[in-house]
Amino acid sequence: MEALKSKILTDGVVLGSQVLKVDSFLNHRIDPVLMSGIGDTFAELFADAGITKVLTIESSGIAPAVFAALRLEVDLIFARKRKSLTLRDDIYTEKAYSFTKQEENEITVSKSFLNAEDRVLIIDDFLANGQAALALARIVRQAGGEVAGIGIVIEKSFQNGRQVLLDAGFRVESLARVASLENNTIRFVE
Ligand code: 5GP
Repeated sequence: MEALKSKILTDGVVLGSQVLKVDSFLNHRIDPVLMSGIGDTFAELFADAGITKVLTIESSGIAPAVFAALRLEVDLIFARKRKSLTLRDDIYTEKAYSFTKQEENEITVSKSFLNAEDRVLIIDDFLANGQAALALARIVRQAGGEVAGIGIVIEKSFQNGRQVLLDAGFRVESLARVASLENNTIRFVE
């Protein structure tokens, strides 16, 4: 998506060779016009996938996911992150290792919001090693539903998340694919 790539080039901040900071339009301040375009693009890509729900994880997935859900005219559910939790029987729970925090989170979704008839589009802001998306997919599976696809705003293609998700059999659509952050320079996959 060209508008997203331009924004990454003008506003993205490279932190080392592994992390891209996009606080000025996605992770802290949000550009609603860009988010609306992102929602349109996801909705077009998955128009024929029979999506019944969009699922993301708090907090940075919510902005792009809500626009995708709006365009697809389905509900959005965001998984909540919690440090630790006593077992409850009204929620689905999965563990997800956080790339940015370098710790394991427990993520939860209420059982009343996902069911076996759902075809779910998973959306996240970044794809690094795929652990967040896999944990969301396991929650869909717990509900008996199907993952129709995974939509990523910014994929870091030099990490192995895409391959992990493809190997698990998922369709992955990334709107910007970053090939490298070496030498403080953002390069996209051709
Ligand atoms: P994964 O689960 O694929 O390893 O990592 C994806 C998650 O980690 C995303 O939900 C995102 O919040 C965070 N993340 C991973 N890499 C980056 C990055 O370079 N920049 C930012 N802002 N977040 C990242």
